[in-house]
Amino acid sequence: MGKKPISEADKRMEELVSLCRRRGFIFQSSLIYGGINSCWDYGPMGVELKNNIKRCWWKTMTQERDDIEGLDASIIMHPRVWEASGHVAGFTDPLVDCKKCRRRFREDEFDGDKCPDCGGALTEARQFNLMFKTFMGPVEEEASIVYLRPETAQGIYVNFQNVLGPSRQKVPFGIAQIGKAFRNEITPGNFVFRMREFEQMEMQYFVRPDTADEWFEVWKEKRMQWYLDLGVNKDKLRFHEHGTDELAHYAAKAYDIEYEFPFGWKELEGIHNRTDFDLQRHQEHSGKDLSYYDQERKERYVPFIVETSAGVDRSLLTFLADAYEVENPGEKNERTVLRLSPKLAPIKAAILPLVNRDGMPEIGHKIADELRPHLKIFYDGGGSVGRRYRRQDEAGTPFGITIDSQTLEDETVTLRERDSMAQERIKIAALKDELLKRTAI
Ligand SMILES: [Zn+2]
Repeated sequence: MGKKPISEADKRMEELVSLCRRRGFIFQSSLIYGGINSCWDYGPMGVELKNNIKRCWWKTMTQERDDIEGLDASIIMHPRVWEASGHVAGFTDPLVDCKKCRRRFREDEFDGDKCPDCGGALTEARQFNLMFKTFMGPVEEEASIVYLRPETAQGIYVNFQNVLGPSRQKVPFGIAQIGKAFRNEITPGNFVFRMREFEQMEMQYFVRPDTADEWFEVWKEKRMQWYLDLGVNKDKLRFHEHGTDELAHYAAKAYDIEYEFPFGWKELEGIHNRTDFDLQRHQEHSGKDLSYYDQERKERYVPFIVETSAGVDRSLLTFLADAYEVENPGEKNERTVLRLSPKLAPIKAAILPLVNRDGMPEIGHKIADELRPHLKIFYDGGGSVGRRYRRQDEAGTPFGITIDSQTLEDETVTLRERDSMAQERIKIAALKDELLKRTAI
């Protein structure tokens, strides 16, 4: 079979991947050894962007609300957690092999009973558990099998009573957590969209059972608004409601927030009404009481849970794909620009002396030193100023500060805004407050 022709969407994705590598956002893991499938490393720019995304989420969830507490639970948990959650028995994908070309597929990925690549015959489907197994302690025996968590949610459920007591919260309240999760996906892919090691931002909101539908609607809207507030194009976001055939075993209702990636509409975040399934199961399996006594209503119940489950890596890919633009392609004034929200941009401002003499570099370094404790700054002294601007546009840096001959006379600099390329003159003394105002999370 010949190579498929490259579509516009594939091309756009390739350009984005190439930009990510070139500018130090994302590298393939272990590349000097040929790479490892579906594992990616975040470079200097990538880690800043990722940290800013997590900071924004954490602030929205925990700092701006008094009804949500934070948690950072262990990745390795008691193996019985995964029996109670249903993952040991049910977190599986049906796997088939092609007898001819030996490729492996998820049976539910394609129609028909022939290999989608070569047309060869397929084996019977086998259920393949997606959890990574490892051993705790020095003896590799059955008793010491543990799992790398496939979701962060369970760490929250098993800590429900631990958090409730010290925090003095009352239902309704939530617990938020950011952390790594691991799934041995049969067919990972699409860059950082589906990885075997990934990071989640999950919030579990505990509510009185008869109020779960109301809270579901509240969280659905709030989570969509979060992406809009961070500048994601409204036309590329939508809700997708899970039909009864798509619903997970624990969910009574589920909506995905989807984004239109170059490779199609895909799930970005899930909002789920998980009912009391999880707490009931942990109650049964642990023998511990996980009910809640409502003082005001004088009643006892096991809370329902409304979950908002977002992927850090998927959010990052969304923000990048949405921000990426090539202006005037093929023309003399072609410009590649990442229109990232200033809150998310890895570098907040670049400092560019117009020429490397007349005391301009000294002033530039002095400004950089003054700003560094407050903002991520990049000093660039070399090459034409136009080219230096372009490099920063491509990295998503929202502001450029240029020191020119007028600076020497009146202690002002030009402040250039990335998207409009508009320039204004501003006093050096006012820079810090102005930049903080425009970039603060
Ligand atoms: Zn085949």
